[in-house]
Amino acid sequence: MSEFDLVVVGAGPGGYVAAIRAAQLGLKTACIEKEPALGGTCLRVGCIPSKALLESSERYFEARHSFADHGVKLKTVELDLPTMLKRKETIVSTLTRGIDGLFAKNKITRFKGTGRFRGPGVLEVVDASGKVTEEISAKNVIIATGSRPASLPGIVPDGDKIGTSTEALAFPTVPKHLVVIGAGYIGLELGIVWLRLGAKVTVLEFLPRILPGMDAEIAAEAQKTFEKQGIEFKLGCRVTAAKPGKSGVTVEIEGGDPISCDRVLMAVGRIPNTEGLALDAIGLKVDPKGRVPVDEHFRTSIPGVYAIGDVIAGPMLAHKAEEEGVACAETIVTGYGHVNYDAIPGVVYTEPEIASVGKTEEQLKELGIPYKKGTFPFLANARARAIGATGGKVKMLAHAETDRILGVHIIGPRAGDLIAEAVAAIEFGASSEDIARTSHAHPTLAECLKEAALAVDGRVIHI
Ligand code: NAD
Repeated sequence: MSEFDLVVVGAGPGGYVAAIRAAQLGLKTACIEKEPALGGTCLRVGCIPSKALLESSERYFEARHSFADHGVKLKTVELDLPTMLKRKETIVSTLTRGIDGLFAKNKITRFKGTGRFRGPGVLEVVDASGKVTEEISAKNVIIATGSRPASLPGIVPDGDKIGTSTEALAFPTVPKHLVVIGAGYIGLELGIVWLRLGAKVTVLEFLPRILPGMDAEIAAEAQKTFEKQGIEFKLGCRVTAAKPGKSGVTVEIEGGDPISCDRVLMAVGRIPNTEGLALDAIGLKVDPKGRVPVDEHFRTSIPGVYAIGDVIAGPMLAHKAEEEGVACAETIVTGYGHVNYDAIPGVVYTEPEIASVGKTEEQLKELGIPYKKGTFPFLANARARAIGATGGKVKMLAHAETDRILGVHIIGPRAGDLIAEAVAAIEFGASSEDIARTSHAHPTLAECLKEAALAVDGRVIHI
């Protein structure tokens, strides 16, 4: 039986980063992963391939619709979907191979197969045929098994006409009509990809708004923008069934007419992966949502067993899992590790992008925290004009008495990059005055953040 100081189960952004940090700190570390490629959902069938398709589809859309505004005339613009999909796959395989390289560099042992507990401190690796290929003794274990797409009662994804994000990253042809169930991160990002490539896209959302959890003012602006781009939203809409037929799918809605389409994308959230881990063998129980309960140091109820990422509570975001992976490894070695959950950004990589950190205006009202608000539109920013992307705004929320920044919400060009300054500001406990007095290069989109900070104090310059 091989022996390790730490065995990480799952090599997604949480697991592989935890393994690297633990190895840096001197632990003899192994990682068990059932997929041939390392990197988890994020690298293989999530963040990375979707970003590749978002970029390609945006270029196609711009070539058809906005190059002429720049004085660039194209005679013909043609979609070559196989090349677009191949480019995405090359990006994925390059990055996943990169993690093999990082494991080798950090002397992390990789086991191929499904990891399951045999008892306290002992894990087995099981291959696809169910055969035990390894027995491992581990002083510590981190469960980092991630999540998988959730489905709805009455709807069985068939991997073809009714698919999840995995299938929607590789439709072999552009659907004529794509129905997306769920107006969250995945539904909007992948809906936009296929809209740009020529599909009619209808998004069905149970709640009366899109992007639940994001600041409502920003989400409302996002909805208007996406509607202008051509997405049809049906809000407050409960889907009861999706029935595949010969030529397509019929989607049934409570109290409404059924919708016929040729493909359905289910994007109604994700559920934690704990099946197959044999948690019973160590007496570890999951919560009613199927998540592994942990304390603030990622410790489960079983000594030496930790859990991080999508399999525990909190937003299912790659960078949240990475922070937890580092903090968990540091806790195991040094006894101390910390994640500041107030400074975890969320980004929707549509065009315009939507990015957020800290509290929303609704949360501040609910918590009774007094706040000041400053907003600044990209329309009044010179760089946004030059780029030709003037939609959206930056909204900054600061404490009414202390001026400490409590939340920043952006819809607009490169919002996902711009939010980094706000994240750093919140991490350092900055005030809006700090940002307002910080020099921002001109002309840059980042000036909108400075102007929003000036607006908090009623002294905005450019509007
Ligand atoms: P989500 O939680 O973001 O959105 C799911 C949506 O489905 C919600 O709006 C919900 O109200 C709706 N819904 C639920 N049941 C419904 C029903 N019966 N009918 C209609 N609508 C229904 O989930 P997601 O978009 O599937 O994404 C899953 C996870 O992956 C999220 O936690 C997200 O954070 C993460 N993710 C992040 C990114 C990113 O960071 N850019 C991208 C993709 C996914």
